[in-house]
Amino acid sequence: MADYDYDVLVIGSGPGGYVAAIRAAQLGLKTACAEGRETLGGTCLNVGCIPSKAMLHASEYFEAAAGGAMAAMGIKVKPELDLGTMHGQRKDAVKGLTGGIEFLFKKNKIDWLKGYAQFTSKDTVEVAGKAYRAKNIIIATGSSVTPLPGVEVDNDKQIIVDSTGALELAKVPGHMVVIGGGVIGLELGSVWRRLGAKVTVVEFLDQILPGMDGDVRKEANKILKKQGMEFKLKTKVTKADVKGKKAVLTLEPAAGGDAETLEADVVLVSIGRRPNTDGLGLDKAGLAVNQRGQIETDHDFSTLVPGIWAIGDVIPGPMLAHKAEDEGIACAENIAGLTGIVNHDVIPSVVYTWPEIAGVGLTEEQAKEKGEVKVGKFPMMANSRAKTNHEPDGFVKVIADAKSDRVLGVWCIASVAGTMIAQAAQAMEFGATSEDIAYTCHAHPTHSEAIKEAAMAVTGKPIHI
Ligand code: FAD
Ligand code: NAD
Repeated sequence: MADYDYDVLVIGSGPGGYVAAIRAAQLGLKTACAEGRETLGGTCLNVGCIPSKAMLHASEYFEAAAGGAMAAMGIKVKPELDLGTMHGQRKDAVKGLTGGIEFLFKKNKIDWLKGYAQFTSKDTVEVAGKAYRAKNIIIATGSSVTPLPGVEVDNDKQIIVDSTGALELAKVPGHMVVIGGGVIGLELGSVWRRLGAKVTVVEFLDQILPGMDGDVRKEANKILKKQGMEFKLKTKVTKADVKGKKAVLTLEPAAGGDAETLEADVVLVSIGRRPNTDGLGLDKAGLAVNQRGQIETDHDFSTLVPGIWAIGDVIPGPMLAHKAEDEGIACAENIAGLTGIVNHDVIPSVVYTWPEIAGVGLTEEQAKEKGEVKVGKFPMMANSRAKTNHEPDGFVKVIADAKSDRVLGVWCIASVAGTMIAQAAQAMEFGATSEDIAYTCHAHPTHSEAIKEAAMAVTGKPIHI
């Protein structure tokens, strides 16, 4: 190690960075992690996955009690919203989990360098005025909200907010307008709709959830509409003026045309996220970003500069916590001389609405572009557990190669789709055919049986439809 302070210095402690640091330390490497936030865990634990799921879970219970789902099972309650307590349990979840990462750092003897890191050369970074030299540096700086010109976010005022502001609202808005019908907009829009807000989603494209399977997008739109969410598709927001306690938005058809205005108590800007590289001093390290502002890497997560690696939201690929985590493990293993691999063709994605929306692999549209496919579909209405639980919405779809029968993609809309999709990802990782899934014994009665039946439907023989 001679004149190096560390074998591995990770910049950023999100799910990419903290996991990379722990794996590096487990492999016997002297490791540090620089983090500028007050607490470890990055976007995911502090202002992303975890707090949003805390609010989604709590609001789901509220709606089940208020909206009749419980009454249908003979449980009559009149819920009263205590938003302060709901926010409190969200904060507790964040505190517990971010503190847990601090504990794991101590346990694995990882130094937390408190402050924002900046490269001063290709093997040295400065954190809080002190220079640290490392044999390997992993950039895991994550991403931040993409701003929308003409719509200025001010989370403190709680009128025009981003996802961080939308998690913290002190009262339920009368009318919330969500700009962007992607994952964040639908999840956080669902939270506030369940708690009583009227929610209008303005989406630039002709359908919500770009990147997901076409059938799934259409069905998700239908289900969310049925729940009371309003959608203005093929529409863009060009301006937002704050007037008193309200925002007045200017909307235009995406293809051009007459503008209209829309008044909102709260506007959520959720049009995507962009990689964090500002102020990192990449030029001092001899690195540059691509046209989308991302740091390009090889399959082993090495950058063009030997000894500098990058993982997570700051590199190309889906901006998902589990993708970042797996890249963190693989990257640390590669640094240690092992063979760390991430199969980017099998990264599941889940939208935690009610019902949940999940997919892994190719969409039907993508699969058809590559060749002939066979598709099996099974409605949740015909699944005994979903039906018994009063959860009839949604379906499972299995897409297989027409010749080899190898599964290319699986898509589900179901109350527990996020849990169900794991078996599809594992099957695809092992190169399963639809027949392999169809002849795997699934416990009864479970929602997962719908995956088996959809796989049976690929060759035309499901039992329950
Ligand atoms: P991040 O988690 O963004 O962490 C990067 C860290 O680096 C930050 O803490 C930042 O402070 C720090 N940093 C940046 N620059 C520096 C520097 N120069 N020096 C020191 N530290 C620095 N994904 C899912 O898979 N499931 C979900 O349910 C989900 N829900 C989400 C909900 C919301 C509201 C949001 C916003 C995101 C959600 N995501 C979800 C996405 C997920 O949070 C990200 O994909 C994930 O956090 C990326 O991990 P990362 O380690 O690359 O970066
Ligand atoms: P997104 O990319 O999922 O959706 C953004 C949406 O905004 C798109 O539908 C896009 O067409 C639309 N849009 C863009 N510009 C617009 C405009 N001017 N007017 C109207 N609509 C416009 O982005 P997001 O929802 O902000 O989420 C960011 C990232 O965070 C995503 O990549 C996602 O993977 C991640 N995330 C994941 C989860 C999860 O896994 N459950 C949850 C939240 C966030």
